[in-house]
Amino acid sequence: MHPPALIEGLIDILFPGCCCSCGRSVDFSDYYICSDCVSKFEVTEPGCPVCGSVLRSGECSFCDERHFYPVKHLSLFNYSGALRDAVRSLKFGGNRLIARIFGELLYGSLLQYKNEIDLVTFVPMTRQKFLKRGYNQTLLMAHELAGLAEIDLIHCLSDLGHRGKQKDMSFDRRFFNTIGRFELKKGVDLNGRRVLLIDDVFTTGATVNECARIMLEGGAKAVFSATIARSPLKKLDKY
Ligand SMILES: [Zn+2]
Ligand SMILES: [Zn+2]
Repeated sequence: MHPPALIEGLIDILFPGCCCSCGRSVDFSDYYICSDCVSKFEVTEPGCPVCGSVLRSGECSFCDERHFYPVKHLSLFNYSGALRDAVRSLKFGGNRLIARIFGELLYGSLLQYKNEIDLVTFVPMTRQKFLKRGYNQTLLMAHELAGLAEIDLIHCLSDLGHRGKQKDMSFDRRFFNTIGRFELKKGVDLNGRRVLLIDDVFTTGATVNECARIMLEGGAKAVFSATIARSPLKKLDKY
């Protein structure tokens, strides 16, 4: 729930904030990123109609090489510049208010699919990671989006943890390593439901794909997925 204007005004006086990207001072209502920096978020180029990857000679190397479970995936912005600063501030800087902006942006882009979605969910994190960070940024984003869209938010997946650090792995190893990482929570009924899955950054797509697979196996009729960012794989190419 958003604080009333009077409280926001008081917070601005007591705790003046800075934009997480350019450092300029901002109001509380800007959630620690200024509108100039938000306007600099680089919108992703249209690509594969299913996964959004860049097409090469009209072909999608991502969908061609593996089964992609979501019926459609949407990544809003390239993981660079001000957007990368905002994602990092949300994930590592304790700035959970950024999730509201991301939720609003996701809502704006997904509005056209609203009637095709019954439930909103998010990529979970391990209990250990949750206790360390104090919040799950994908849950905060999904919560904002679900509230705006007036669609139920469901906590349906658990993260059982990785076998090794995903960040340092090659593309194929990441995919393999993600299998078996998530499970459906007990008592969750997805039968015949169309679920929208929210994550922060799409890199190899392994996380989104595995979560979608588990939900489809659990009876979901269809899974849509969306992330605020898409990250290039350049860093991983050397492995
Ligand atoms: Zn700024
Ligand atoms: Zn594709």
